[in-house]
Amino acid sequence: MNKKMIQGECLCRSIQIEMEDDFKYAFYCHCSLCRRRTGSAFSSIGGIESEKINVIQGESLLFREGETADGYRAICSKCHSPLFSVLMDRKRTHVNFGALKNEPSRKPDHHIYIDSKASWYEIQDSLPQFAKLPN
Ligand SMILES: [Zn+2]
Ligand SMILES: [Zn+2]
Repeated sequence: MNKKMIQGECLCRSIQIEMEDDFKYAFYCHCSLCRRRTGSAFSSIGGIESEKINVIQGESLLFREGETADGYRAICSKCHSPLFSVLMDRKRTHVNFGALKNEPSRKPDHHIYIDSKASWYEIQDSLPQFAKLPN
């Protein structure tokens, strides 16, 4: 069976990623770490099995921030764009949707860490909101 693939890249385009269009979930995260990391009100993230995503160009430029056995945050060492985070014993990858070049089938459908939301940002949609994580 042919899987639909989608692609992503960092700002300077040195790093190209490709993944199956098979996100298990997607959300907007309003935690303060995401705010600092993205310089924006929230991050838009989709979760996928790590085996379904590959770096297809520029792997040598990929900086593995905070690397442990559990995972790391993948950032371009040239332009510093956050691309994705590997977590859960490296089994799961959280892709920053801002890096995607194509539209994923699954769109973010809930908000998390509303407890930490920026006071200057108003959520304008009616998607479910969670104080921290969904139960
Ligand atoms: Zn880059
Ligand atoms: Zn967050």
